[in-house]
Amino acid sequence: MNIRILGCHGSEALLQQTAGPHTCHTCSFLINDTLLLDAGTVASKLSLSEQKRIRHIILSHLHFDHIKGLPMLADNLSEQISAPIIVGGLPEVVQGLHRHIFNTDVYPDFFKIPTVEHPTFASSFLKPGQVHSFSGVDVTPILVNHTVPTTGFIVQDGSSAFVYSGDTYSTDELWREAKQIPHLKTAFIECSYPNSMGELARISKHLTPALLAQEFRKLDRHDISVYAYHLKPAYKDQIQQELRELHIPRLTVLEEDQTLTI
Ligand SMILES: [Zn+2]
Ligand SMILES: [Zn+2]
Repeated sequence: MNIRILGCHGSEALLQQTAGPHTCHTCSFLINDTLLLDAGTVASKLSLSEQKRIRHIILSHLHFDHIKGLPMLADNLSEQISAPIIVGGLPEVVQGLHRHIFNTDVYPDFFKIPTVEHPTFASSFLKPGQVHSFSGVDVTPILVNHTVPTTGFIVQDGSSAFVYSGDTYSTDELWREAKQIPHLKTAFIECSYPNSMGELARISKHLTPALLAQEFRKLDRHDISVYAYHLKPAYKDQIQQELRELHIPRLTVLEEDQTLTI
């Protein structure tokens, strides 16, 4: 499986790093060129022909940093594709897109244009705990602990699997399920705030490095690569330092503009 990281931060910002300036983008992973996991950053990172190859999009939740790439993608593709792109998520997520974004006020309803018979997007309601097949990979959404209805995902093909936490605070079922998968290769665990902001993390239902360590202990798999992602750019240096101090051997901070092959 190829996982192309289009965006992996908890907000956008231009950071001056030692290697040079870097723009942080919000979360979107492109799987095998055709399945998009979250849609925070899409059209600004893909050529038009790459955008056209996307057949399915799965959304962890409705928060703006995970959906904001959808309107521009729809605008680019509405007259370009022969079959609608399937947009999947919990019913609350997909219905929320209709109600709050593609409602003709904020943006045109790309679930009905260019024509009702051949729209740009088509809805798909995902059931937590059930396996859904998209673009040749199996996706299992599992409810996690965030301020709005949210799922993490277990994504697998015949030979490899990864787990994506979604935005979450302390959670159990996702790790319990992922832990049992023999061919699990990678875990993406969100880590939004430094330890000093633990109270904000609790209220906004995100993780800090100390909380990430607790979640990793539940997963208890030392044979896999672990990536912290969804770092808030304003606190990136501090979060990275605190993650290093955890001394989890195969833990690194995820960066954009790379393709992981698992
Ligand atoms: Zn988020
Ligand atoms: Zn969120």
